[in-house]
Amino acid sequence: RTVYVNGEYLPEEEATVSIFDRGFLMADGVYEVTSVLGGKLIDFPGHAARLERSLAELEMTAPMTADDLLEVHRELVRRNGIDEGLIYLQITRGNPGDRDFAFPPADTKPTVVLFTQAKPGLAANPTAKVGIKVISIPDIRWGRRDIKTVQLLYPSMAKMAAKKAHVDDAWFVEDGLVTEGTSNNAYIVKGGKIITRDLSNDILHGITRAAVVRFAREAQMEVEERPFTIEEAQGADEAFFTSASAFVMPVIEIDGKAVGTGAPGPVAARLREIYLDESLKAAV
Ligand code: PLP
Repeated sequence: RTVYVNGEYLPEEEATVSIFDRGFLMADGVYEVTSVLGGKLIDFPGHAARLERSLAELEMTAPMTADDLLEVHRELVRRNGIDEGLIYLQITRGNPGDRDFAFPPADTKPTVVLFTQAKPGLAANPTAKVGIKVISIPDIRWGRRDIKTVQLLYPSMAKMAAKKAHVDDAWFVEDGLVTEGTSNNAYIVKGGKIITRDLSNDILHGITRAAVVRFAREAQMEVEERPFTIEEAQGADEAFFTSASAFVMPVIEIDGKAVGTGAPGPVAARLREIYLDESLKAAV
């Protein structure tokens, strides 16, 4: 696999980052994951805009323009012959040459790393036909979940808790209300209405969420942006989540209780179809 690190395309074995990198020592960095379908990037402008916002919130300077970033994404897709898959991008505050809590001088060069992950069959993922199961888990993450940082230890622990419980994922709960999934935004459907938590610093502003909410409203489906409880979700007609890597994924069980019929529902299936159709048309 060819990867990108700080301006160079290299075989993955030759790509290196300093031990003093702020990303390594302090999780001082941000990331994006963009999917590739038919060799094209899904929702690239959305990911580029969120990246810019994450960097600005952390007082980091964008190392390159969105257009240059797009070129790097495309070049990696080309070099690695990716038809369906993901591109991971990470930008850290760089290498100050030592360990110190204070941010290094603003002219410290950020570290930029990108790599591809081939995922043949990503769009036709058979799991979307069966749905997945989740458990709930307390949300003890920090208060700026709207910034897409590489501090992913607690979400990793939540994934492990799900694994130990023999389910696929976990939904975070704070003050009795679902915030989001470990790496996705959470939704329920009741009486045809789609309900998903409103945007704030409590959740990541999913790029897929923005698109799905827009497509749903364009298709005359009602969307209500408000928090919901695990009990409400268990009593809903359907539940699902969205993310750049899974698109729209039905959730059929929460904490051991079947949601609706216990099978993927029509709203999630329709939204998945619309999302894939529309975002493929707009892919770059
Ligand atoms: N919420 C969290 C915590 C995430 O990590 C992610 C994606 O990684 C999402 C939501 C979904 O965001 P997107 O649709 O931009 O992938």
